[in-house]
Amino acid sequence: MLLTDIGKVIVEIFVTHEIDLEKKKKIEVLGVPTIEIDLSKIDRNISELDLQDVLINKNEYKSWVYNDKREEIYKRFLEASEAKKIISRNFALHVDNCPIGKRVWKQKSYANFLDDCQYCDYFICYKSVQENDVDQERKILCSGKRLIAHVADFEVPFEKRLGDF
Ligand code: SF4
Repeated sequence: MLLTDIGKVIVEIFVTHEIDLEKKKKIEVLGVPTIEIDLSKIDRNISELDLQDVLINKNEYKSWVYNDKREEIYKRFLEASEAKKIISRNFALHVDNCPIGKRVWKQKSYANFLDDCQYCDYFICYKSVQENDVDQERKILCSGKRLIAHVADFEVPFEKRLGDF
């Protein structure tokens, strides 16, 4: 465990065993931000200097296992979004009632899932079908209705976001 500017941080080094679900749950209960550094594909004969470089400067080897701030922000995005069905129609995947009116057909707005939603700032995530989902339909989470695309948007009144849109 390291003591950093943002408080305590656990650093886990993954060489042969990455953090499993059980350990991840323990870390979440502990509530300490945790980074995993993946050295599993690093050449075992790496020089000390290169290893130092990987550990300190190379972000591509590091990932957050748990970060309370990130979880908090992600939760806010989830709360700001609504689930919208992906509808298969004429060989295309559509999302009806696109809140920003990407496309319009017979005065109804919709978006093309592949061409629009995936590149849209308001696309939060794809929601895969879970076994216990009542309707068993594929959905996306979209924050377009609230016009929340970035963390900073939470601090801006909706009317201002609307005006800037
Ligand atoms: S993710 Fe974007 S394009 Fe897709 S429905 Fe939402 S606002 Fe429209």
